Amino acid sequence: MKKNIIILLVTLGLSLAAALFLLLDDAGVFSPGRMVWLHKDREVRSRLLSIPILLYHNIDGKGPFAIDAAVLREHFQLFRDRGIRVISLRELVRQLENPAPFDDRVIVITFDDGYGTMHSKLLPLVREFGYPVTLFVYADIISVKSSRNLTWEKARKLDRQGIDIQAHSISHADLTELYRINDQESRKRLYEELYLARRLIGLRMNKKIDFYAFPYGRYNLAIMDMARKAGYRRVFSTDYGSNIISRDNFCLRRQHIKSSYTIDFIDSLVR
Ligand SMILES: [Zn+2]
Repeated sequence: MKKNIIILLVTLGLSLAAALFLLLDDAGVFSPGRMVWLHKDREVRSRLLSIPILLYHNIDGKGPFAIDAAVLREHFQLFRDRGIRVISLRELVRQLENPAPFDDRVIVITFDDGYGTMHSKLLPLVREFGYPVTLFVYADIISVKSSRNLTWEKARKLDRQGIDIQAHSISHADLTELYRINDQESRKRLYEELYLARRLIGLRMNKKIDFYAFPYGRYNLAIMDMARKAGYRRVFSTDYGSNIISRDNFCLRRQHIKSSYTIDFIDSLVR
């Protein structure tokens, strides 16, 4: 009995000594503030495994998701000032397929739809900062001839200059609604919005399309499975949160950026 108490006391003593040792600073001086640093270290390590994908829409347009060009520039500058590395979606997917933490904090930047401002405003900014960006386009926005929208020629130019074009359906239909209706017409359309979109955008862009962003971010498990069968390597929602590298998710989350967000909030999303 007495022996057990001695073992217990020795164990407690050793644990306390180990804890105190962790709180010594580099000069060996006792420093309780070091606990905060240890906590920070853990935070940094978990951030290396947790990758935010940002989602933007139009630039200088109308509505809650259109961002001012000047504000977008501030975001881009913030990422640089914070030492955050902007990687391509393809690089993230490669890392997901062979899971390992990144060496530094990374983010991915994506845009949806296919507005003309992708050429007039995003391209110059992307060139200036050297950030790889992915743009998910839906076919109809480009097929409708309007100065507000991209043309296929401009989309190909973006693709050659560091803006990776990927698929965002044919007509921007809500896929969950088509799935719910479940008649002959809606089943045909669901097939087109997923499978035909990959074929058509691939033909127009003269490349293989690997990624698909769900219109309005809406999906269900059956739709996810159809997307997999249509040949997509990864699909993208607008579900809240980051992507954990150790989980090899087929459906990745994206953080929707609204024009009302402050720069401090953007900072809190990426740091
Ligand atoms: Zn969209």
